Amino acid sequence: MERAPLAIVWPCRLSVAEYAAAGKRIDVPRQACPDCGRTLAWWSGYWRWLRDRVAVRVWVRRGRCRTCRRTHVLLPDLVHERRLDSVEVIGEALERSIGGRGMRKVAAAIDVPTSTVRDWRRRHRARAPALLARFAGLAVGLGDDLADLPTTLEAAALAALAAAWARARDRVAGVAASMWRFWNVVCGGRGLVTNTSPRLGTARTPG
Ligand SMILES: [Zn+2]
Repeated sequence: MERAPLAIVWPCRLSVAEYAAAGKRIDVPRQACPDCGRTLAWWSGYWRWLRDRVAVRVWVRRGRCRTCRRTHVLLPDLVHERRLDSVEVIGEALERSIGGRGMRKVAAAIDVPTSTVRDWRRRHRARAPALLARFAGLAVGLGDDLADLPTTLEAAALAALAAAWARARDRVAGVAASMWRFWNVVCGGRGLVTNTSPRLGTARTPG
């Protein structure tokens, strides 16, 4: 059975505007095949929209393993799969909203519809146990004792993320440039994907 293309999320040093300005000339670091470890060959790509206050068109490269004959989407860490907004916009909204700010105010501050912020929150709430487990495991593995985690799941997931990020930034070379990009790399671009079959999503409608 042919499997759907799998996204590989790579740490990118560029802003959304810089990434967009590079167009098809975007310099993507060579990636290894997740199945056999061989270096992927470039395999065209596709245009998509990415919004960071303003929407821009960005080119996303694909790589292909000649041995496994599978293609992989090479997502820069500023892009979340199937979301129009950049991960930093999504993350900022999640932080403010989970921190107690009203969704309407959060949405107005970042200029997206309230329904969009509500959708992000709903998905984050559904994913919170898995996110908490993942980032708590990472943080502990990197030497954090995770003292005083908040008692609500979503806030605890955020605190574990912050702890893991703080440790990773000090200890891991080439780590992502911001906390939410780090979140996106760890989640493989699917932090808010509630589908329980993580490798089966193929639709590319942003939003
Ligand atoms: Zn391979």
